Amino acid sequence: MTSTAQIEFENVQKHYGQFHALKDINLRIDKGKFVALVGPSGCGKSTLLRSLAGLESISSGTLRIAGEKMNDVPPRRRDIAMVFQSYALYPHMTVRDNLTYSMRLKGVPKNGREKAAREVAAITGLGDLLDRYPRQLSGGQRQRVAMGRAIIRHPKAFLFDEPLSNLDAALRVQMRKEIRALHDRLGATSVYVTHDQVEAMTMADHVVVMRNGVIEQQGAPLQLYDRPANRFVAGFIGSPAMNFVEAAVTASGDALALDGFDGALVPVARRLEPGRKVLAGLRPEHLALGDPDKSPIRVPVSTVEFTGAASYLSSSTEPELTIFHAGRTEVRPGDSVGLSIAPDFVHLFDPGTGQGVD
Ligand code: ATP
Repeated sequence: MTSTAQIEFENVQKHYGQFHALKDINLRIDKGKFVALVGPSGCGKSTLLRSLAGLESISSGTLRIAGEKMNDVPPRRRDIAMVFQSYALYPHMTVRDNLTYSMRLKGVPKNGREKAAREVAAITGLGDLLDRYPRQLSGGQRQRVAMGRAIIRHPKAFLFDEPLSNLDAALRVQMRKEIRALHDRLGATSVYVTHDQVEAMTMADHVVVMRNGVIEQQGAPLQLYDRPANRFVAGFIGSPAMNFVEAAVTASGDALALDGFDGALVPVARRLEPGRKVLAGLRPEHLALGDPDKSPIRVPVSTVEFTGAASYLSSSTEPELTIFHAGRTEVRPGDSVGLSIAPDFVHLFDPGTGQGVD
């Protein structure tokens, strides 16, 4: 089966007056995919989503939906549905009327509306709640009504703008599974904006990492985690965040001398130019605790936190290292620990440009 691009941004630019909010965006989203746009506040992810919805015009480039150029098409003729964090439900209308409001505007008769409301309520698990008002619903149920209202229109794509940020942590985890399952059941195409990289990683087939209006990297979640293209993506994807340490390649070219770690030598899985300065990226979960006398890195420990399932240690070094240890440890603040890391897990970046070193 050949996949069709359902959404396509080609060399898209967006200026707000002098401000360049989207810089040469190229993004292709195939039918049936779930794509997450992620990045820090102000990176342009909402602008990208709003341009897709037609709520912002683009300054140049081409935007296509289902193969059709959309640059100048008004929002309501784009045939896409947006789900917001505020749900945007009408408080004085029942769930049934909220779900079918768009059909009423189109003049669909009552029995047609009722049939659609029942179908969507069954899909979203709202079957018993059709006569309730939004104030009589939990946050998760309101979120489902917002989803149902989008589903009832059979749009070409679903757009989500931080839909879960009003919910507590446990409900967020549940709703992200529900939204992804709904997406799969409907065979939908979804674009989901979040600043939460865990949400992006767990929900999406394809993650787009943005910064300052630029797509820094896009790919499958684990591709971004395993092979971050640059320091920014490396630091943004993964929790707790990657440690970065300045280092110099040794004379033999197959190890790094870490700056600030008492001559610690860490082997790397390739040959590098001796003397070259690099930034080494060491993920907290790849630093293995060991005997201080037999490990390549030795650090004094400043804090130890237990979550029950895991322990988080910080070193009192400059720079500080965060270590993730699955399980418990006897190590206490003030102790020294040994650390080792498999050569394959050492990420390398250029200290000037931040780009990955091939
Ligand atoms: P957040 O997570 O905080 O919502 P974001 O990544 O969604 O951030 P955008 O809302 O897309 O960011 O904004 C991107 C940049 O464009 C920001 O620097 C913002 O100040 C700017 N911007 C957004 N809307 C306008 C506007 N109407 N006029 C001028 N500048 C704007």
